[in-house]
Amino acid sequence: MAHDYSQQRFETRCVHVGVDKDDSYNSCITPIYPTSTFRFESLGKTKGYDYTRSGNPTRRALEESLASLEGGIDCRATSTGMSAITACMHLFKPGDHIIAGHDIYGGTFRLFNVPFTEYGLKFSFVNMQDPGTVRRALTPQTKGLWLETPSNPLLNLVDLEALATIAREAGAISIADNTFMSPYFQRPFEQGVDIVMHSTTKYLNGHSDVVGGAVITRHQAHAERIGYIVNALGLACSPFDAWLVLRGVKTLGPRMEVHQRNALAVAQALRTHPSVDRVYYPGLPDHPHHALAKKQMKGFGGMLSFDVKGGGAQAEKVMTTTRLYAMAESLGGIESLIEHPETMSHASMTAAARQGAGITDKTLRVSVGIEHADDLIADLLGALDGSRG
Ligand SMILES: *Cc1c(COP(=O)(O)O)cnc(C)c1O
Repeated sequence: MAHDYSQQRFETRCVHVGVDKDDSYNSCITPIYPTSTFRFESLGKTKGYDYTRSGNPTRRALEESLASLEGGIDCRATSTGMSAITACMHLFKPGDHIIAGHDIYGGTFRLFNVPFTEYGLKFSFVNMQDPGTVRRALTPQTKGLWLETPSNPLLNLVDLEALATIAREAGAISIADNTFMSPYFQRPFEQGVDIVMHSTTKYLNGHSDVVGGAVITRHQAHAERIGYIVNALGLACSPFDAWLVLRGVKTLGPRMEVHQRNALAVAQALRTHPSVDRVYYPGLPDHPHHALAKKQMKGFGGMLSFDVKGGGAQAEKVMTTTRLYAMAESLGGIESLIEHPETMSHASMTAAARQGAGITDKTLRVSVGIEHADDLIADLLGALDGSRG
């Protein structure tokens, strides 16, 4: 029988919510239900599920867990982060205007700039670090604000509370992509945001062995509409993928603590290295948005970027000579990754959009894993030493 864990703390809910699903054999871990369809007991009578596109007990367990961790009323787990964003965009109709940050995830930019623009939605990509810029971009057709903080790859923050307020006053829906922080470090509902989405591929799963997404809602009307859209468009994730993410979520708290501890140590080591021009990490006191980070986040996360002195050739040398950091896109897994945003993660942006967001060829982005910090620092500093001259 499912218990009520709503009064328990975050780490306890990570372990327990969505787990007590098996009354047949009392398994302690949620079973995987790899079935496309479910037997009816009589005409119109099921045990709650009829077809896996519409609903599946393993997927539901993950949805209950993520809704609880973000503090929402409902969640839909999707096949990818992009399908979660696709579900959100179907809250809007052709002609609606949506304001998004100019430095959002490259794949989100592409989805907005091509498929959803062709579908008839209108987008403005603006620098959301100044709420005044967002206010000036509002039109009578503005129906949505797309928020991503910290941004990728330069780790700029936007003020969730200020922007959620602007959206509410304009009658627009505010949606936050909370992939970078996970609900352990940031819960945008607490700042008044309407909808939270994730690429569960990243920290929520945390083990680089699945792609997935989630949309978490806190208003009944949004919950019903997102549920309808995910079923109608066929965006939901497989039971097996849901099970993997549910397993990952159990260790979210301890993993995030180590990601953060290591990221801070690496950021501090990079800062004093002669081959590094600049380090972008919101946990550093001289980060331009450090005060806002302390206000709206419960930690600073495991992502950082830095500029290599010289330029693209030096950056490439660093990236290709590290041994512990795999040269790969993606982030949020237990292993450390390094990548070149201009040619890799942000290649799906236009050159003009990259320039506007300040992404240059000397920037490298690191997803700091949970290896020993001393090994991570020695490997990266060694590669930087080798990049000189
Ligand atoms: C990876 C990512 C996405 C897209 O998620 P997929 O699971 O790759 O489809 C969206 N937003 C952010 C911030 C991401 O890092």
